Amino acid sequence: MLILLILSKISVPSVSKNVAIVGAGITGLTAAFRLHEQGCQVTVLERATQPGGSIRSIADHGYLIEAGPNSLQYGAPELKQLVHDLGLEPELVLANPSAKRRFIVRGGRFVAVPSSPPSLIGSSLFGARTKLSLLTELFTRPRVRTTDLSLAELVRSHFTQELLDYAVNPLIAGIYAGDPEKLSVRHAFPALWQAERSSGSLIRGMIAGMKAKKAAGGSGVAPIVSFRRGLQTLTDALAARLPAGSLKLGVTVETLLPGRPHRLVWKQDGQSASGEFDAVVLAVPAGALAQLTLGTLGERPLASLDNIPHPPVASLFLGYRREQVTHPLDGFGGLVPAVEKRDVLGILFSSTLFPHRAPAGHVGLTIFAGGSRQPDHARLTAEGLLAKIDRDLRDLVGAKGPPAFMRHSVWPRAIPQYVPGYERWLEQLTALETAHAGLFIGGNARDGISLPDCVKSGGRLAKIALEYGK
Ligand SMILES: Cc1cc2nc3c(=O)[nH]c(=O)nc-3n(C[C@H](O)[C@H](O)[C@H](O)COP(=O)(O)OP(=O)(O)OC[C@H]3O[C@@H](n4cnc5c(N)ncnc54)[C@H](O)[C@@H]3O)c2cc1C
Repeated sequence: MLILLILSKISVPSVSKNVAIVGAGITGLTAAFRLHEQGCQVTVLERATQPGGSIRSIADHGYLIEAGPNSLQYGAPELKQLVHDLGLEPELVLANPSAKRRFIVRGGRFVAVPSSPPSLIGSSLFGARTKLSLLTELFTRPRVRTTDLSLAELVRSHFTQELLDYAVNPLIAGIYAGDPEKLSVRHAFPALWQAERSSGSLIRGMIAGMKAKKAAGGSGVAPIVSFRRGLQTLTDALAARLPAGSLKLGVTVETLLPGRPHRLVWKQDGQSASGEFDAVVLAVPAGALAQLTLGTLGERPLASLDNIPHPPVASLFLGYRREQVTHPLDGFGGLVPAVEKRDVLGILFSSTLFPHRAPAGHVGLTIFAGGSRQPDHARLTAEGLLAKIDRDLRDLVGAKGPPAFMRHSVWPRAIPQYVPGYERWLEQLTALETAHAGLFIGGNARDGISLPDCVKSGGRLAKIALEYGK
């Protein structure tokens, strides 16, 4: 009996799967965390010198600046579970209730977006024809389209050009730094694609979708949140939960030699190195997927992903003494329609949105510029951009004099644009995975651009990598 017991203790340990995760943004870190939790041996290879990818929260001179994403919708069950599992619920901060008020520029000034049917009736943002179209649209019959279309075409077919110009265009500038004329309904807004099929009316379909999400355990209208010390809290916590030595920074993965095991070749400090893995998870942006060589002949099977448009974006955080800004800053911020011919895409009222974002007596604004509308604006220096947007700052928020603080971040390839025909790139990803068992690809080139989408993507990647070879 004793011998049996001893034997059972020294019997061959179960060999855990050895998985490489390339990219330590929110997608890759989520995948790595979930795989480690399930007993896999993980190695995370990250080109930058810090984890987090686009997420970067910086504390400086009493300000808390988000260089990349600023907030996140807290509705997806996968995101809530992740925050819970990391013990981060006490760190969450809800957006200020006044952030429900959002502004859009019309006639050169910020006008509040109507948030209820009564406020819509009295709103100066839209004319009578648009208001009526919002009502009559409710009676649209279901329509099953066979070909994809742009968001702009869809909006025009249900509402008015004015709604496109003064609601959808600025919203898309705010989310994608993009243009609704160039975004695919099927790929970028699958909920609208589905709503038109099932309900006819986009409004009714969206309401039904929200109800269904709520019934499935999600939030109907998800609250906007961040963390006390900014969004980087999430990626820092994920990185901190990985085993010591498993996150390798300053490592650029260049080649995958597929096989059993897969071999990855990377560069670190100018030196080549490699490692063998049972499975490989790629959680890098489209441009990095395009660069990856496969096999010994230097082929780049995903080279055409370089053609996915990624307009550049500049994010300029400005701190002012409170008295320098006349606008009450009583909201989330404001967005700018292209037809208004301004130089900013939008202005976030960062110090209203979340607490402790600016020192006492000061306010913080985050300005976005560039995008597909004015890509050259994202290539200006901080001073050049500040001079360019001076008129907007004065007209829209009444900012006077030089800012007390400034921090400039540039994203040369900010956000992938899911254009009509995007399926050609998705098909290439699927084909590559099919050709090489044990290779899994996710991230914002494939699974959606929002942070909750990326968390879901990381969870999906972990699940399929775990199931592989079982
Ligand atoms: C300016 C800006 C504002 C945004 N605002 C919001 C917002 O408010 N809310 C929201 O929900 N979303 C927002 N987004 C979108 C969201 O931030 C991104 O879609 C998301 O962070 C992408 O995460 P990811 O992990 O898929 O990719 P990334 O964050 O891009 O991470 C990929 C990682 O892979 C690494 N890598 C690349 N190539 C290699 C290689 N060869 N070898 C090793 N590592 C490599 C990169 O260095 C990077 O760290 C914003 C994005 C930007 C740019």
